[in-house]
Amino acid sequence: MTTEIYLDSNATSVVLPAAIAAATDAMGQRYGNPSSTHGTGLKAKAILDQARASAARLLGVGPGRLIFNSGATEGIQTAVLSALVALRERRDAGRAIGALLVYGATEHKAVPESLAHWNRLLGLNLTLHKLPVDGNGAHDLAALRAVADQAAMICTMAANNETGVISDLTAIEAVLNETNCNACWMVDCVQALGKLKLDLSSTRIDYAPFSGHKLHAPKGIGMLYVRAGTPFTPLIMGGGQESGQRSGTENMAGIAALGAVLAALERGDTFRTHAELCSFRARIADSLRAALPGVVFNNPFDKALPTTINFAVPGLSSRELMDVFDAAEVRVSAGSACSSSKAAPSYVLDAMGLPLWRSAGAIRLTFGPLADEATIAAACARIERCGAALRASCLIPSERTAVPHDGLLQLGVEGACSWMVLDAASRSCIVIDPLPEHTTRIEAYVRCQNYQVQAVVCTQPNAGRAQLIAALGRHYNRAADADEYGWPANAAVIAVASGAAASAITVGTQVLACVPGQAQRAYLLGVADGARLPAAAVRFAFSAQITQALRDVSTERTVLCPTRDDGNQLCSGTTSATQAITTADAQLDSAALASFLQAHPDARLIDVREPYEFAAAVAPAPAGRPALSVPLSRLAEYASTWLHEEPAPLVFYCRSGNRSMKAAQCLRRLGHPQAYSLHGGLALA
Ligand code: PLP
Repeated sequence: MTTEIYLDSNATSVVLPAAIAAATDAMGQRYGNPSSTHGTGLKAKAILDQARASAARLLGVGPGRLIFNSGATEGIQTAVLSALVALRERRDAGRAIGALLVYGATEHKAVPESLAHWNRLLGLNLTLHKLPVDGNGAHDLAALRAVADQAAMICTMAANNETGVISDLTAIEAVLNETNCNACWMVDCVQALGKLKLDLSSTRIDYAPFSGHKLHAPKGIGMLYVRAGTPFTPLIMGGGQESGQRSGTENMAGIAALGAVLAALERGDTFRTHAELCSFRARIADSLRAALPGVVFNNPFDKALPTTINFAVPGLSSRELMDVFDAAEVRVSAGSACSSSKAAPSYVLDAMGLPLWRSAGAIRLTFGPLADEATIAAACARIERCGAALRASCLIPSERTAVPHDGLLQLGVEGACSWMVLDAASRSCIVIDPLPEHTTRIEAYVRCQNYQVQAVVCTQPNAGRAQLIAALGRHYNRAADADEYGWPANAAVIAVASGAAASAITVGTQVLACVPGQAQRAYLLGVADGARLPAAAVRFAFSAQITQALRDVSTERTVLCPTRDDGNQLCSGTTSATQAITTADAQLDSAALASFLQAHPDARLIDVREPYEFAAAVAPAPAGRPALSVPLSRLAEYASTWLHEEPAPLVFYCRSGNRSMKAAQCLRRLGHPQAYSLHGGLALA
């Protein structure tokens, strides 16, 4: 049974059951080629005609044309090609044309990319001109007025896919009329279909692309409206289908499915009303406010489609929000394209002038007009679950002190790492090599778990500890003077394995000792034996590199916690050379998991997602087995424990198999012979 709540309908939508039935019928019963003149072909042609007639009525096509194609990207291509070919012909005939290809700053990338592509290919060399939008995402009409008489083509979408912001097409049209603009006008209507009333032939819109999969039809089917008398050049030539305007045998399953959606729209008995959709949005927004303190909405609700909510939460990245929602099986998307470590800001929100944290941390939550009461109620409950998971992990403020973590914690940013040594029993901790990027996170963590920071030490001198110390306030122990590495002047002296004396500070039952005889500082962590720290007792070493001095005081089971981690290895050994691990060795297929666990009853199943993902999870662990939560940030701590135990197989898993592969490779590099990653992660399990 699926527990998934799909709230990413602006990306693509669930296919309407009637559309699936219609597609099945078009493939099973009415499989003819609509160009054939025999009975089988005529049955197929009837599907085509019905769908086109339905669309024409719904969209007010009038004397204009509707051409079936593969989707909006093709529709945009065709519209741009048509307009630009006509412009070139006009210019070649010695007539004046505008110099600018004007497009809204928040258009889908398909628009500026197509304009640039065909402009170059056709050798027009016109200038692409981005039309600004205001803070609400509305086109700047004064800016449009200023350039309208120089425009060769104008592209302004009907509703935005990231924010749902509805364009004022009437006002845009008025500007075009007032300025005697004679440019062709394309309006991308993808997000408007079924959500906004359209009467195309009563406007001066020349081209309007549509896409089936954004409104409960399958992917690969779309339509392009072309106004009567507007220039047209086919993108695809061949057998003359679609009256010679778009050759290629029609996608009949797609057209039948889209026809079923259009018929449902016409009947008005399938989709929620605008008022119902507004009430769904209000309920979700209330849940977000309650669960995620400080949440801000990036789209003005009164000027946007009710089905699109775009938000950001102070202190949380879009990656973290995406991860916790995904663990709770609520499918949303980052409002921006994001890579693994850093979210790229959304160009749509940037164009609206939003601050970087809102643009880079944006989440887009979208439902379709097919949404129902039960799904919205379930979504609200899951949002509350995500909020609780984030609070328990100290990622958002909580009134209660969280249960303290114990041991080592690794925070990483772009190859550099900060480390925290935490002792839950005494609530004391030491921070090693804090990065400025981690100041807020470390401070929130320390405050939320009520830790006292005994020392903030670095492996480099004068490495900028002041920012963190200032942020920690009363949670930093100011009693001792410290040198330029942050090392306390009142540290004790301990003998390390080389026999040398080392300066050491205590954290709980362990000591942190400064490795003697090194140009660059390195630290050792372990449980001392009286006034000695034997090599076998050194569980961790913190250092930028492996040196002989470090090897002399540690063993092959000491885990090296690097201060830089460019290779994304998390941690490594202090003695052995790093050997290459092939992905295939460490990969376990989900189909083979159950039998693997049966053959290895001592195997451990380990969830390497972050604690808030583990806490928010609604799906059981793979193979129905209990799993241990060991996020990558805690892997070094657990790796050390596993290396000191009798080796048992370790099966790591995460959402997609990426993070678990890092964990498995890390353990293999550390010498664990049986560390595996569940291939494809929970998504395929
Ligand atoms: N225009 C807008 C506003 C969209 O949201 C999308 C899809 O994301 C497209 C165009 C491209 O549509 P298609 O997937 O049909 O090519």
